[in-house]
Amino acid sequence: MELLDGFNRKVNYLRLSVTDRCNLRCRYCMPAEGVAKLDHDDILSYEELHCVARAAVSLGIEKIRITGGEPLVRKGLIPFLSELSKLPGLKELVLTTNGILLPELAPDLKAAGVKRVNISLDTLQPERFRPITRCGDLAQVLAGIAAAEEAGLAVKLNMVVMRGINDDEVVDFAAMTLAKAQSVRFIEYMPNIQDAGWQEQVVRGEEILARIGEKYAYQALSRGALCGPSRDYRLDGAAGTFGIITPVSSHFCDSCNRIRVTATGKARSCLFSGEAVDLRPVLHSGDMPAVQRALLDIVKGKASGHHLDEESERGPAFSMSTIGG
Ligand code: SAM
Ligand code: SF4
Repeated sequence: MELLDGFNRKVNYLRLSVTDRCNLRCRYCMPAEGVAKLDHDDILSYEELHCVARAAVSLGIEKIRITGGEPLVRKGLIPFLSELSKLPGLKELVLTTNGILLPELAPDLKAAGVKRVNISLDTLQPERFRPITRCGDLAQVLAGIAAAEEAGLAVKLNMVVMRGINDDEVVDFAAMTLAKAQSVRFIEYMPNIQDAGWQEQVVRGEEILARIGEKYAYQALSRGALCGPSRDYRLDGAAGTFGIITPVSSHFCDSCNRIRVTATGKARSCLFSGEAVDLRPVLHSGDMPAVQRALLDIVKGKASGHHLDEESERGPAFSMSTIGG
């Protein structure tokens, strides 16, 4: 079954957040004081999350990404993922994580049916890790990456590029793909926390490519059916690939294939629309057709695009951890 929105875009990808909590406080994701924790009762139960996933897959969703907050901090995640991966019609179950808890959980994730983990890694320099994440340390994430690879999970590394913070490491990250069959993606810094002067921090995708191009030759790669918004490339002779994700400089709205459901049950058709539909009433009633109808309404109401780079169009500030990125 194909799920089409009002602009004939095929929607086949659900980002499902399982928690707002996190063991890091990244500077680009939330304010320094952190985010007020939600009550346990405000978070969807695993039964409710499973119901959302079932309804979504029955409508045509083929790929689910588990996100947060930090999804690995939620207790009971592994049995939930095991159930989810068995959903008929679901082609890909993947997860986005900061990697801190992967040393203990990577084998369980693999056994639960997770195909790939996207790991956030914004610096290769230990002394920079803390100013960016405000806690934790780089060695934990590197151990997490190694554990994921050892467990047989495919790994993608996501770097949020910020001018004056870590943009001088772009070429180093690209170079990691030379010897190792690694996938690295550079993400433009998005203004969700609306810090003053955010525009200066954005390093546009074209500039990232130009910087890499000064050092290495590379070729563009073609896109797969379940791909996200990344434009992918390979350095000449490299074992791995790199990609750029450009939500600010070059919207990928024309090919947007996703919807989101937050840990509190708010379904959203666009990260930046601000509009959300509360699924909890229909989830509480246990009325599956009503959950399906609610998700369908979200898909049909999906806007044609957002205007992130136009100052006047910005909505209220939010922490990415409350939505799931
Ligand atoms: N805790 C997990 C992690 O960090 O990977 C999953 C949740 S996090 C909110 C999901 C993604 O959002 C991460 O890849 C993170 O880098 C990205 N993200 C958060 N704030 C961002 C921002 N302001 N600009 C670009 N990406 C951002
Ligand atoms: Fe936590 Fe991920 Fe946000 Fe960093 S980006 S604070 S790891 S939710």
